[in-house]
This record gives sequence, structure tokens and C-alpha cells, in this order.
Amino acid sequence: MASIADAAGNGLAISTRGLVKRYGDIVALDGLDLSVPTGVVYGFLGPNGAGKTTTMRILTSLIRPDAGRVELLGRPFGRGDRRRLFDVGSLIESPAFYPFLSGRENLRAIAATGAPTPRGRIDEMLEIVGLRERAGDRVSAYSMGMKQRLGIAAALLSDPRLLLLDEPANGLDPAGIVAMRDTLRRLAAAGKTVFVSSHILGEVRQLADVVGIIARGKLVREGPLDVLLSSQATVRVRIDDGDLERATAALEALAGPDSTERLADPSAVWLSVRFDPDRAADVNRALARAGVFAARLEAGAELESLFLELTGDSPAVSTPDDPSATPPGTAATPPGAPRAPAGGVQ
Ligand code: ATP
Repeated sequence: MASIADAAGNGLAISTRGLVKRYGDIVALDGLDLSVPTGVVYGFLGPNGAGKTTTMRILTSLIRPDAGRVELLGRPFGRGDRRRLFDVGSLIESPAFYPFLSGRENLRAIAATGAPTPRGRIDEMLEIVGLRERAGDRVSAYSMGMKQRLGIAAALLSDPRLLLLDEPANGLDPAGIVAMRDTLRRLAAAGKTVFVSSHILGEVRQLADVVGIIARGKLVREGPLDVLLSSQATVRVRIDDGDLERATAALEALAGPDSTERLADPSAVWLSVRFDPDRAADVNRALARAGVFAARLEAGAELESLFLELTGDSPAVSTPDDPSATPPGTAATPPGAPRAPAGGVQ
């Protein structure tokens, strides 16, 4: 069977077609189609319970799908293919280690059962994840973040072409997150494919070249991050209650039918219009001609609003090292823009 290529004809590092996974009555994956290009960091983004871990577990052969097919590195991937996992490094859920062995001894134990590992590779990996100094300590004395870093070192041990990481920032402190981000970017620059699941937008925004957004077991959007964001460009205006109809008519005359929607903000009337942010002055002019004077005007593209619109869910916006951290469960809000309460944009 011919392997699946992307639009440019390049091979895909991962492709899934029609993946379905049910747990009793729960449909965890509902026909998932992923196309992950080679040599990128791919951010697999979705709210809690969307199906990210289920996907990861299928990609690493931990569970079987009920339907659909998977190709890894250009070849169909089935249950009998476990040796091919030497080409695939993964960190899924909490990594398991022998607590009474040191970090280095744990990596040796893993290397002994996996693909042949060149001499010096273990120390090199310990260095990459910043654990060289503590490599001789027992893992039982490691913090959660140190165990997470050891997990990433273990995933890199076989020098895989494809790296699958489920929520890799879990348990890492801000310095650890920055170090991990640098490491993953370097791996992609060296031609490897890094597939990272996350429900933290700030992390994906800073890390990924390509993003796939999953909601309720289905892919709802996929593409290069900059393209997704430019498709999401909006201008938002705050107006008086009494001007709603006139303003909507003026904006739709400017930007086209169905270009304008009211944001879910009970405290003020905000309209969002899909329009080039660089031409925000045209929005202002169109409103003024209709006799509407905006109290505020904001322009820009935000991953948060795309996520909210596509998933109907509020993402965790920031990483712990981001001073603008928004508490989980708080609706994402572009800087200075209207706050859309959880539940989505009306
Ligand atoms: P999170 O961000 O919270 O980790 P996720 O996107 O990784 O979420 P999954 O863990 O893949 O989501 O779960 C998808 C759906 O499948 C959820 O409704 C979850 O409750 C359900 N599910 C996952 N594993 C099992 C299981 N072993 N038994 C029953 N239901 C499960």
C-alpha cells in the first residue's frame, strides 16, 4: 500500500486515518486523521479528555485502536511491529524507573533491553537533560521534575527519528521547561520529528512549528502555527449596547456576511470581526460612518481564541515560567481584549 504524503509530496512521520477507540460507552477517538510532517515539532493540543493520551498509547502500541490505520515513518504500523519502536522514543504518562538504582543505572538497564546504544550515549543524554551531576543518585531521591527529565533522556537513548512526548512539561520547573524546549527544538533542527501533546497553549505556542487541535476525539484543525494564526486574525471593538445592530451591519458590509460575532462578555458589548489586523483603521472608519464610536479597539491573532472557538473549552494558557499565567479554567483572553467566559464565544 502506498504511504501517505503531505500536500507537498513529502513523507509524513506520523499519519493516522480514521482512528477509533472506545472504552465501553465512551468514544475516546472518533475517526482521528493526523498528518505529522517529518522534521518538525508538532504540538498536539486539546482540552482535558480530548483523546491525546489515547492517541499516544496507540502510536506506541500500548493499546489497539478499534478501527483505523497508523503509519509511522512512512510504513504501516501494527501490533507485531514492536522492534520498529527503536526508531520511536516515547514518554507517556509518568515514567517508571527502578527507585533503588541511580539515574545512570536506570538508563543502562533500559539500554540493555533496547536498541544497541553507543558508548558514551548515556552520559551525553544525562548532560542534555541536565542530570549529569545527579546521575549517581538513587532515583528514589529524585524530584518529580528530575524523573521527568530522566524519562526524556530514556526516550532519546536509541537516537530515535521520531519522539513522542505526552505532556513533557509536567513536573518541570521553569528552568527545566526552557531547557526541554531548547532540546526539542535542537532535535527538530537536526531533522528529527518531535510530537508533543499538551493542554498548555503557552508551551505549544513557544515550541511547535505545526499544530493539531483535537476535541472530543476528532481533529478539528491542523497546520503550520503561523498559518493557523493568520486565519484567526480578528479586530475586536467595544461598543454601546444600543449600537449593536448598526455596528454589526457596518462591519459585515466591510468584511462580508457572517464575519462578525458578539463575544461572550456579560459586562460589555464586544464585537469580533474577521479582518486583517493591519487594517484596523478601516474598521474604525466603517463604524464612525455608521455613527458608532468604539470605546475600545483591539487587533491581533491569538491561539487562545482559535482553541476556544474550535474546542468550546478553556485551555490552560501559560507555562509556569510565563508571568502572564492564567489560572486553569479561566477563559483565554488576548492582551487587553474582552474576556470570553468558559463555554465559548457566542
Ligand atoms: P488529559 O489532557 O486530561 O490527559 P487526554 O486528551 O489525554 O486528556 P484521554 O486520556 O485520551 O484524554 O481520554 C479520552 C477519553 O477517554 C476521556 O473521556 C477518558 O475518560 C476516556 N478514557 C481514557 N482512558 C480510559 C480507560 N482506560 N477507561 C475508560 N475510559 C478511558
